Amino acid sequence: QAGVILQFQITTFGEGERLIVARDVTRVHNLEQMRQDFVANVSHELRTPLTVIKGYLETFMDSLQEDHPQLSRGLHRMNEQALRMEALVNDLLLLSRLETDNSQQLIKPVGIPKLLRQIYHDAQAMNETKQHNIILEVDEDLDINGDHEELRSAFSNLVINAIKYAPAKSNITIRWNEDENGVYMEVEDDGDGIDPKHLPRLTERFYRADQSRHAKTGGTGLGLAIVKHVLIHHNAKLEIFSELGEGCVFTCHFPRKNIVPKAQKSVA
Ligand code: ADP
Repeated sequence: QAGVILQFQITTFGEGERLIVARDVTRVHNLEQMRQDFVANVSHELRTPLTVIKGYLETFMDSLQEDHPQLSRGLHRMNEQALRMEALVNDLLLLSRLETDNSQQLIKPVGIPKLLRQIYHDAQAMNETKQHNIILEVDEDLDINGDHEELRSAFSNLVINAIKYAPAKSNITIRWNEDENGVYMEVEDDGDGIDPKHLPRLTERFYRADQSRHAKTGGTGLGLAIVKHVLIHHNAKLEIFSELGEGCVFTCHFPRKNIVPKAQKSVA
């Protein structure tokens, strides 16, 4: 027998009086659960046909290259779109997992300086055409407890966005340091920035600040939604600062309690 889910709202008045409103949100909760299950199932089911399609495309592309150049070009386009769909399916699956499986305790030390160095090297490799000046400012002694793969996804999404959206030859800085509230990872770029009116909705699935620009950059539209959910899982918060023409700063704030004491430092 399914239970009833109630949401309480408590308002306190001057003389210690309280108004308590209880709302039955069972239906809303069940619908949300159905939506999450549906997205997870569809994404999962799409994986097998996609793998088969990609397999055939690769075989045909190789064998038709010389004798049928026009057909081969068409197959390359199809392969590009299949890869794009695969990225989308993978992001949807990751997002579904993050939405449903928040129970796991995050007690494993993650070697963040090493992880950020890897992301930095991957970014340099991606960066050949745009030649950004990527700067890494990392406190080597600082680690947190968390999930290595989730943090890799979140941090690389922020760095890849800076590479995608900031114009060629601009500066991108990746920071990892302590402040008065805890510890933060930050990606700053000096690109075109985002109109502040978009900022409150930027972490919604498929929300884009500039539709036309997106067509050229080819992301899945799920990157910042993934960042947000990874941070929720780590009791952390995403702060976005931007003005048009002033670049962007994306900061992930982690609470002090996540910091690994120096004696216990990880080698991961
Ligand atoms: P996408 O796949 O479209 O990049 P994201 O969720 O990662 O999806 O980002 C959402 C939107 O936020 C992007 O479409 C873009 O408009 C804006 N955005 C994200 N990062 C930056 C950045 N560094 N500079 C300018 N705009 C950005």
